[in-house]
Amino acid sequence: MSPPAAHFGQNEPVTGNKGDQFRPSTDELLGHNENFVTRFADQGLSAAPGRRLAVVACMDSRMDVGQILGLAHGDAHIIRNAGGVVTDDVVRSLVLSQRLLGTREIVLIHHTDCGLQKVDESAFYAELALETGLQPRWPLEAFRDPYDSVRLSIVRLLDSPFIKHKDHIRGFVYDVGSGRLNEVSADPGHA
Ligand SMILES: [Zn+2]
Repeated sequence: MSPPAAHFGQNEPVTGNKGDQFRPSTDELLGHNENFVTRFADQGLSAAPGRRLAVVACMDSRMDVGQILGLAHGDAHIIRNAGGVVTDDVVRSLVLSQRLLGTREIVLIHHTDCGLQKVDESAFYAELALETGLQPRWPLEAFRDPYDSVRLSIVRLLDSPFIKHKDHIRGFVYDVGSGRLNEVSADPGHA
């Protein structure tokens, strides 16, 4: 059976498996974990983030949020999904982050060349319906401009009655070509 038409990026994976040659990685990863355990030194870390910071970011595999921001283990909550979009489930995590674990600052990170910029939303839904007979309960949250998607996510945070701390919310677009974070202004007329 041939795979469904890809509506996400058309690029082949740069590393790892391709197509029929796919082999799962979990056994190899467990070997890496054995090495990790031998040098593990985080026993004393608190579950409450030390910087009282929560980061909401796209799941894109090119982005290592800890490296991008210079975060240490225990510094921040990192909440990730496709697009880094503020969905109800992200709000759920942020509410717990703020109310139970003391965070007071939110950083949003979307990025250039995001898969969600390339999705034909109606074709995606039609394909799912054809294969499953169902429409998903969740919106796909596709977008064209990552700066606009950051602005929309900021608005959702500001509009949410459940988000308690809104004084320190900033949004950025990560440039996958340079590694730079470009801040998104609240004004749609500017980047
Ligand atoms: Zn993305």
